[in-house]
Amino acid sequence: MTVPETAKKYPQGLVGRAYRFSENAHKGQKRKTEEPYFNHALAAAETLLEWKLDEATVAAGLLHDTVEDTGVSLEAIRKEFGDEVAFLVDGVTKLGKIKYRGQEARAENLRKMVLAISQDLRVIFVKLADRLHNMKTLSALPREKQKRVAMETSEIYAPLAYRLGMQTLSGDLEDLAFPFIHPDEYKWLKVQVKEEYEKRNEYLERIKPEVEKILSKEGIKALVIDFRAKHYSSLYKKLLRYNMDFEKIYDLVAFRIILKTVDDCYAALGLIHKLWPPLPGRIKDYIASPKPNRYQSLHTTVIGPEEKIVEFQIRTKEMHQEAELGIAAHWVYQQQKGFRSYFQRMPARVKIEDIEWVRQLRNWLSTRSSLETKPEEFVESMKIDFFKDRIFVITPRGDVLDLPAGSTPVDFAYHIHSEIGDTCVGAKINGTFTPLDEELRSGDVVQIITQKNKKPSKDWLNFAKTAVAKNHIRNALKEKEQILRKRVPTRTEIRLVVKDRIGLLKDVTAAIASSHVSILNLHTSAPSGSEFPTDKIEIATTDKKKIEKLILKLKKIKEIKEISYKII
Ligand code: MN
Repeated sequence: MTVPETAKKYPQGLVGRAYRFSENAHKGQKRKTEEPYFNHALAAAETLLEWKLDEATVAAGLLHDTVEDTGVSLEAIRKEFGDEVAFLVDGVTKLGKIKYRGQEARAENLRKMVLAISQDLRVIFVKLADRLHNMKTLSALPREKQKRVAMETSEIYAPLAYRLGMQTLSGDLEDLAFPFIHPDEYKWLKVQVKEEYEKRNEYLERIKPEVEKILSKEGIKALVIDFRAKHYSSLYKKLLRYNMDFEKIYDLVAFRIILKTVDDCYAALGLIHKLWPPLPGRIKDYIASPKPNRYQSLHTTVIGPEEKIVEFQIRTKEMHQEAELGIAAHWVYQQQKGFRSYFQRMPARVKIEDIEWVRQLRNWLSTRSSLETKPEEFVESMKIDFFKDRIFVITPRGDVLDLPAGSTPVDFAYHIHSEIGDTCVGAKINGTFTPLDEELRSGDVVQIITQKNKKPSKDWLNFAKTAVAKNHIRNALKEKEQILRKRVPTRTEIRLVVKDRIGLLKDVTAAIASSHVSILNLHTSAPSGSEFPTDKIEIATTDKKKIEKLILKLKKIKEIKEISYKII
């Protein structure tokens, strides 16, 4: 059943309501292809349905661009469709803020961020379905944008899909991106491969009856026997490794046999080897040892009739479905939010640690150059994988910063640049003004507001989380103190020891006033053990001539026993 059919059959279901809501919200909007915008939302939802995801996810697919591209608020979505759908739409909206800028070093961070922001794998599924349709319609976009989106797809989303076990999708995304990233190579390859593909297809067609015959003779029922052409992008990568020699690419087109049971798979492998000799070193048992992304299959390469080389892939229906859908294949049974809970709900006998691909995912998430990093850093980077200790926040330009959980705008500012940290006076998180001690969350877009010559304040130390920020704050505070100490003096303190009488103070202040100097402070004390009280007067000048003249005037007052001054 398609999405419109579902919507029609269950008009009051989530999908039905989301269908009408989205159609209405996108009314009048057109895509660059001149199609109604709603078609895009529908295409994404259709893909999610194809992946057999739950109805909240399909609804989120329909609604995924409403918050970003129409006047609809997230609150409206929440009110209409509940927390779950709102959460998914919000996640996809946040992912849309990430911009890949072609810095390969950052691709790692971006991939981590996508996972961290998503929190729920279904957010990634919606994003992947969205991206798949965007890639299919990419030629309508301006050239510059085409390249950026294609690079982002190839660097971020195709690898993510692969890690999630969605091999077919990953290859499709790579293939859709390939012509935009390497246009010349693509043109060349298309011409080269066409003939080769046809030749090999024809050959496989010819030997197919032999395979069918030998299987049925042994009572093995093949559910599907077909041929799978290698993805252009991976073919190209392989050609680069083999000096562009097509003869060496044995799996340009491969035989794919899908059977009922694992026993059938091994039996079929044996039968094929009996028929044609296998190439040594090319038998791969991914059933006994699955690939890190959980891919399972038997692969073998044999020397077929006419001495031609053929690759076979043999697997069960379940293995095939997993190769197509990856982790999404389990989703129907495991509708639980979040990465962790997903694994916690796996059958009791399967521990998280036992799932090979999870381990691989962890390794992959830690820095690529993990072998070169120090052991303590490595341990630290392992922690990132389940994201409880790290957050990923975005600059207004779309760059990603990886910070410890609990970080604030001040940490963010110092991580961009020490000067931005030192001069920051405020922050906007997702467009809203927020205090500098606000805790940041993954996916926040953070903008720092600075003011020239501003200095950090001491209480920042109470909430700054990162050592980088704290050190900079301390340094800046020290500098501030030194500047204060080195401050240009503006005042003079005059110290008078007097024999007090009524009206003396008045005479003193009159003398000062007649010198056109203002009094800032006046303090009288009578130190014990001293016969005479002391007056301390602060005046607002540092002009020595003025002060000397004033001193002369004061000396004329006979009750003044001693006069001294210092510029402060
Ligand atoms: Mn979209």
